[in-house]
Amino acid sequence: IAYQPVEIKTNDEIEDLAEVYNEIMQKAHRYLDQQKRLVSDVSHELRTPLAVLDGHINLLNRWGKNDPKILDESLSASREEISRMKSMLEEMLALSRFENDELDIHNIDTDLLKIAETTLKNFHLIHEDFELKLVNQLTGNGHAKIHANHYEQGILILLDNAAKYSPGDKKAITLTLSEDDDYIITSIKDCGMGISPEDLEHVFERFFRADKARNRQIGGTGLGLSIISQLVENYNGEVLVTSQLGEGSDFILKFPKVKPAL
Ligand code: ADP
Repeated sequence: IAYQPVEIKTNDEIEDLAEVYNEIMQKAHRYLDQQKRLVSDVSHELRTPLAVLDGHINLLNRWGKNDPKILDESLSASREEISRMKSMLEEMLALSRFENDELDIHNIDTDLLKIAETTLKNFHLIHEDFELKLVNQLTGNGHAKIHANHYEQGILILLDNAAKYSPGDKKAITLTLSEDDDYIITSIKDCGMGISPEDLEHVFERFFRADKARNRQIGGTGLGLSIISQLVENYNGEVLVTSQLGEGSDFILKFPKVKPAL
């Protein structure tokens, strides 16, 4: 593309130009900040699994050849660490894609009830032990301004968490769709272990995992809910959570309604 020098003739044009310049610089700064934070978070988080792997390789090297028990245990622990790193990388990729996407959100119109129905049906296939319920409290058509695949990805993260953090025998998850004047509201409620008030303020932070000792047994990377935060930010939505330790959690997503033309 040929470079077109900008010609400025009036003061008004200088003002316009300054405005555009400031906007671009702000965006560039935000982008650079995000990238810096991402790189430092990732390096920090990959250090632990790499150190564990290093330890196992040393063990294998020293004793593994003669001791089949050590061989088995270290190999399976290493495999577990590698699979944790793999899911971490996949989720990091999803996150950076969300952060960098410039979404055109003006012409999107998605039927959330339809997506919720199919997502829940598919989810049931891999979680047969759960009682899954869909409650429809919509008064309108339930259309919202979010891409269908992004909505599906969002509710899947919340459904996965609801299942993962329900280790007892109360295996019930309810997805409720409702609306207010501006938003279509999705609630995903479980009867699982719940979150303590101290942890609740941090669950949307990148890599945060409540009660690390207990959670190490439950697989996860601490990235799912930061993907949700980014998702609602991109679509001018909101996310809220209420939870009671030992009783369960309720995650609520709000996405702007598609209002019918007057
Ligand atoms: P991950 O599940 O991979 O650890 P998330 O970002 O999805 O990461 O969640 C962050 C933390 O919030 C989890 O580690 C868990 O402690 C807590 N959490 C999320 N969802 C639930 C839930 N439905 N019930 C209880 N705790 C939850």
